[in-house]
Amino acid sequence: MNTKNLGFNSKLIHGGDFEDALGSATVPIYQTSTFAFKNADHGAACFAGESDGFIYTRIGNPTIGALESQIADLESGFGGIAVSSGMAAVTTIYMGILGQGAHIVSSAAVYGPSRVVMEQHFSRFGVESTYVNSENIEEVRNAIRPNTKLIFIETPANPTMGITDIEAVCKIAKEHGILVAVDNTFCSPYLQKPLDLGADIVFHSMTKFLNGHADIVAGIIVAKEETIYKKLRTMMINMGCNMDPHQAYMVIRGLKTLGIRIDRAQENAIKVANFLENHPKIEWVKYPGLTSHPQFELAKKQMNGPGCMISFELKGGVEAGKILQNNVHLAILAVSLGGVETLIQHPASMTHSKMDKDSREKAGITDGLVRFAVGIENVEDIIADLDQALSKI
Ligand SMILES: *Cc1c(COP(=O)(O)O)cnc(C)c1O
Repeated sequence: MNTKNLGFNSKLIHGGDFEDALGSATVPIYQTSTFAFKNADHGAACFAGESDGFIYTRIGNPTIGALESQIADLESGFGGIAVSSGMAAVTTIYMGILGQGAHIVSSAAVYGPSRVVMEQHFSRFGVESTYVNSENIEEVRNAIRPNTKLIFIETPANPTMGITDIEAVCKIAKEHGILVAVDNTFCSPYLQKPLDLGADIVFHSMTKFLNGHADIVAGIIVAKEETIYKKLRTMMINMGCNMDPHQAYMVIRGLKTLGIRIDRAQENAIKVANFLENHPKIEWVKYPGLTSHPQFELAKKQMNGPGCMISFELKGGVEAGKILQNNVHLAILAVSLGGVETLIQHPASMTHSKMDKDSREKAGITDGLVRFAVGIENVEDIIADLDQALSKI
């Protein structure tokens, strides 16, 4: 079926370039490592790229391919490259775009390992990096060097909820012939479409919203243009960062409800953010849907909604945060986000603990910051749980 002109939620159900010979209503799991060629010439044609036939699952697989085409369409890109995890997406992009002597400019507040793998490992191969507060567009512009090959941004940033102006960054990048990659994990294409705003590459930890059920780890990259798509696809294949067919099936299944899951979680998040902002034991709340968010207007402009992630700091800092984490019952004390369940975690001692304290503070990740991922439970229960835990402080 041609799904090109369908709405977003219809594409979630009917998208993906896949037709099953037996008429299966869902995409079957092709749990196979390899594919038989019809004859010697067909095998040679597959390897020469002259036939669309499948060869070997690390290179391509029908179940994985269905997911890749579906998400590429949702992100308005040329093609998708499914990978084993969000971090496999990050390393595939770094490996595919950067080389010895290259330089990257990145948001300082990014997913912890995205920064750690650059500063501690890619640096060993001669890749240089500058981490800036990308909320300030001048910092991005000033960090560009003649050897800058990639601007890497995450917005809203993890875990500070700072917003980077994607369109403005892409404009600067174009002036210098630099590519832009955007980590869209916190939004999903339901809330934000970086390729439409000028980015060249968008990627996700599909572990989060796209799969949405906290039961697998997966990632995907979508490139806007064919040349970049091919470059990154080759890198994924050669490095072996591929997804497994069963993993792809799980994401295709979870993806169907992305729209209604985010609608509900976001509705809950707005209420939870308001509750927290008015609570006497809370120092500050950062949520793009609150007018107190410094980039409230920018968030409204580039996102279709404020999302489901909230950061806040308690009066009493780290100690108070610990009491809260130890006393919630409904919210699960766990890293990750984007699932149907509400999660709470402490970035300075958990997701961002491998970053040095100085970089952490410069990136706005204070020791007392708590990250709250709002799920789709009844909002009264989420708020009651927070309320009773806050009363223990
Ligand atoms: C979780 C996450 C990643 C890494 O994804 P994995 O699937 O855990 O490898 C990258 N970026 C963001 C914003 C994330 O939340």
